[in-house]
Amino acid sequence: MTFDEAVGRLAAAGIDNPRAEARLLLAHALGIGRDATLTAPPPTPRQAAAFDALIARRAAREPLAYITGHKEFWSLDFAVGPGVLVPRPDTETLIEEAIRLHPDRALPLAIADLGTGSGAILIAALKEFPNATGIGFESSPHAHAWARRNAEALVPGRAEIRLADWSAADGQFDLVFSNPPYIPSAEIATLEAEVRVYEPRAALDGGTDGRDAYRALGRLLPGLLKKSGHAVLELGAGQAGTVELLFPHLRPIRVAPDLAGIARALVLQKP
Ligand code: GLN
Repeated sequence: MTFDEAVGRLAAAGIDNPRAEARLLLAHALGIGRDATLTAPPPTPRQAAAFDALIARRAAREPLAYITGHKEFWSLDFAVGPGVLVPRPDTETLIEEAIRLHPDRALPLAIADLGTGSGAILIAALKEFPNATGIGFESSPHAHAWARRNAEALVPGRAEIRLADWSAADGQFDLVFSNPPYIPSAEIATLEAEVRVYEPRAALDGGTDGRDAYRALGRLLPGLLKKSGHAVLELGAGQAGTVELLFPHLRPIRVAPDLAGIARALVLQKP
């Protein structure tokens, strides 16, 4: 199909930025940068067939990041694909909060990330704190494999990625992150197809009221934090007030907004 036909196909499928995405997928099919597509010679039949296949996948609402195999988070290039939650820009709020808590980047912090997924939060934090070490706990074997790969590529030798449920988490940390599943089960059906059909439900579904994972964290975190250590947790829209109540043994320090102004990160401290 021609480039304009591809744009039309993505638009018809309800994709918001069909021209930009078609250009990215063309670049991917040609194995060149996005800007180079503007001056590239016409695709060979093989490249054209590859482009058509990529457009068909995206028109079926497969996440763009799964198709290209990459997603940028905190200006780092993460490898992603089926079986792992695609890192979201909102989640960068958690890294900003960690930096606010510890302006001294040289600190040798012990960091944990519960449900690390692609490893995005843990790895971005280790980049910001070059003397820190970290453990990412992940119970999904698929996600665990992506996190390992990203850790090896981006922070070699500095992160341990452990295939384990949170309940098996142990250690004593200065900083514990989590972006837990927080969407109420009944709302999963209302999410866009990319998320609902393709992304791992275990990374999204927070039980009936969306707060099951926070209840588990409320029990676990006091044991995982050093004295005066901090937890930085992602929140779903509108959850700040009710989630705070689930941490009676920790002191709420701050609720931080994301770029859209939604209360996105809850910072807690162990007294
Ligand atoms: N922010 C994700 C979404 O909107 C949800 C991730 C989560 O449940 N932690 O799809």
